[in-house]
Amino acid sequence: MPTRVIFGSGSISNLKQIVEELGASRLFLVTDQGIVKSGIVSRVLERVPKIHLFDEIEPNPKYSTVNRAGKMVRKIKPDLVIGLGGGSSLDAAKAIALLATNGGNIEDYEGKGKYRTSPLSVLAVPTTCGTGSEVTWVSVITHTERKFKMSIKGPEMFPKVALIDPDLLISLPKPLIASTGLDALTHALEAYTVKPATFLTDLFARKSTELIFRFVERAYKNIEGDREAREKLMLASTLAGLAFGNSDVGAVHCLAESVGSLYDTPHGVANSVFLPSVMEFNLPASASRYAELAEIVGIEGESENEKARKLIERIKLLCRTLSIPSFKDLGLKPSEFLEIAQKSFQNNSNPSNPREAAVEDYLRILEKLFRQS
Ligand code: NAD
Repeated sequence: MPTRVIFGSGSISNLKQIVEELGASRLFLVTDQGIVKSGIVSRVLERVPKIHLFDEIEPNPKYSTVNRAGKMVRKIKPDLVIGLGGGSSLDAAKAIALLATNGGNIEDYEGKGKYRTSPLSVLAVPTTCGTGSEVTWVSVITHTERKFKMSIKGPEMFPKVALIDPDLLISLPKPLIASTGLDALTHALEAYTVKPATFLTDLFARKSTELIFRFVERAYKNIEGDREAREKLMLASTLAGLAFGNSDVGAVHCLAESVGSLYDTPHGVANSVFLPSVMEFNLPASASRYAELAEIVGIEGESENEKARKLIERIKLLCRTLSIPSFKDLGLKPSEFLEIAQKSFQNNSNPSNPREAAVEDYLRILEKLFRQS
């Protein structure tokens, strides 16, 4: 794992020292308006005042925004890019660091290792408890005309340093604690059950699952007052990133990314909505793996199948407790189900899913959810 991880409440106060250790003097900060309004950007600027600020990243970051920042970064010639925010800002920072040294547009680099020169160093500071992007090598950028979420990745794209301060979650609105917390749970569950899972990724996935079940509701109820809950949830998010970053994700993400590219649905919300249905679909292939995770969270049962089914029911209950939007709330048009199913099938992670998922299977999952809504 090539990223140096610095974890701890209040660790943002070490930012200046970390920047100095990296030998950086020209800094480019990539963030979004929500982070500016939350006051987190001001806290960063207090510590490192001489910094070029790009604060225009939108959720599900768009290729046009990243390309605009790319032009800017090549003029400014920084020696470090700091990504500050949720997965959108962190992914944009990785993409901008790539454009800084390679030129061109981000869509030219879609895929694995398409760049010629190593990207600039990235310091990633997450402010949500979901994506784990601070420890992964991938940047997910939306191509709006193609209505497609591109993955741009490569071994040189891991952030140099992940500075993870759970206190930055204090300003995260309740619905985002819920949806990004369940995004992390989706990462852990998929990393554990997909075909590329390994003994090492299992360790991260199991611990992450345990922590999310123990702490997500407490964090949701009282993020400001419950320091232990926000620390453990933030840790779980990073552990889930380590798990799927070295294993993969599966059909939940295939659906969520397809829906996200067409409807701009927040990533964590889409994952939470599809997670129980895809788990039901995967049961014939994954019952024993789900049963292992069920045991970790204290679920008992006579058989693997019973434990696996109880785990799915527990996740449905968790979605209701955390007021996760329903399938109906996503506003998907049945006339577009086929396109969503086709995009899901074409997703790079589809082959990793534990049970083979054809276009018709994705279509059936969508139609079942529609009938039940
Ligand atoms: P996000 O970055 O899109 O942020 C969502 C909203 O929350 C924004 O409006 C932001 O301003 C606000 N916000 C974030 N932190 C805040 C805080 N502490 N206080 C107040 N407001 C805050 O959300 P996300 O779910 O973290 O990221 C989703 C993106 O990450 C998607 O584009 C998804 O595809 C991508 N992703 C990337 C990876 C990876 O490994 N690179 C993995 C999973 C998802």
